[in-house]
Amino acid sequence: MIEVNELVKQYGDFVAVKGISFNAQPGQVTGFLGPNGAGKTTTLRMLTGFMPPTAGSAKVAGFDVFDQSMEVRKRVGYLPESVPLYRDMTAVQYLMYIGEIRGIKHRRERAYEVLRRVGLSHRGDSLIRTLSKGMRQRVGLAQALIHDPEVLILDEPTIGLDPIQVLELRDLISELRQKHTVLFSTHILSEAEQVCDKVVIIQQGAIIAQGTPTELRATLERGGRVLVRANAPVEDLSEALGTLPSVLHTEIVTEGLVVTPKTTDHDPRPEVARRIIERGWSLIELRPLAVNLEEIFLELTRAQKRAEVVEAPPSETQSETSEAEVQE
Ligand code: ATP
Repeated sequence: MIEVNELVKQYGDFVAVKGISFNAQPGQVTGFLGPNGAGKTTTLRMLTGFMPPTAGSAKVAGFDVFDQSMEVRKRVGYLPESVPLYRDMTAVQYLMYIGEIRGIKHRRERAYEVLRRVGLSHRGDSLIRTLSKGMRQRVGLAQALIHDPEVLILDEPTIGLDPIQVLELRDLISELRQKHTVLFSTHILSEAEQVCDKVVIIQQGAIIAQGTPTELRATLERGGRVLVRANAPVEDLSEALGTLPSVLHTEIVTEGLVVTPKTTDHDPRPEVARRIIERGWSLIELRPLAVNLEEIFLELTRAQKRAEVVEAPPSETQSETSEAEVQE
C-alpha cells in the first residue's frame, strides 16, 4: 500500500512536485503517467526513501518515507530509470551481491529464484555486459524483487526496449500485482491503459486526474465529443450545431459530423438533438465517440493550459466566458 498526502518537492526556488495526493493499493498496478519533466522520478525517489520531501507526507507499506526511511527501503523494491548494474559480474553474482547488502540468506538460491521469476534463469551465468538491454532490464527487476518486497516501484521500466521486450515486460509487471503493490511510471499512454488498474496523471508537478482507465474514459465520454448524423447536408448540420452555446467546434468527418463541447462536464447531446429537430431534420445517429487514454490526456492537458491562461476569475460567469475565449 502506498499513501501519498500533499507531497511537495522543491529544488531551490523551483517546485517540481506541488502537493500531490494519491494511493496505490495492494494487488493492483498503479500507473504514474506524465510527460517528460512532469515530476515522476522526483516523486518515486521520495517514495523509495532516497530523497526527503520538502513538505507533505507519504507512507509506504505502513511506514513514513521521511521518519522511517530505513523501514521503507526494506519493504520496497526499486527499479530506477537507469539501473546501476556491474557489467563485469554475472547476473547471479550481481544478484548475490545485492542480496548480501539486503542481508538475505541462501543468496545463490534466491538469485536463481528471482531470475526464474523474470524469465532469465538460463542466463544467470552470463556476464551482464553480454546481455541485451531487455535482459539487463530484467536483471534490474530481479534485484528489485530479491528481498520479496511488499511494494514495487518501477521508473519507466520499458524505456529503450524493443517492441517484443516491451510486451514481455508488461506481461511480467501485470503478473507481479498478484504478490505486490506495484507503482510504475510511464509517459506512454497506451502502456498505462493496457497494464494498469489505476492511473494517476501528473503534469508540471500536479495531479490533473486519477482513476481506472474506464473511469477516466467515462468522465470524458459523458461530456465529450459526439458523432452526429442527420438527413441534412453535413455543411448545414455543421453550421446549425456549431452555433450552439455549449459547442466549441464541429468537424466534418467521413461518418458524419463530430461535435466538441466547450467543457467536458457538459453532455451536448440533448441540445444537439433539439436543434436538429427544430430545423425539421431527422436524427439518424448521435453517439459519444470512444476515447482512449491518449485523448483523455490531451484533453486534460488542454483544460489545464486553459485554466492557467484564465487569470483568477472573480465569478463563475466570467470564468466561463474567459475559458471560451482561450480555446484553441
Ligand atoms: P522524465 O520522464 O523526463 O524522466 P519526470 O517526470 O521523471 O521526467 P523529474 O525527473 O521528476 O520528471 O523532473 C521534474 C522537474 O524537476 C524537471 O523540471 C527537472 O528538470 C527538475 N529536476 C529534477 N531533478 C532536479 C534536481 N536535482 N535539481 C533541480 N531540478 C531538478
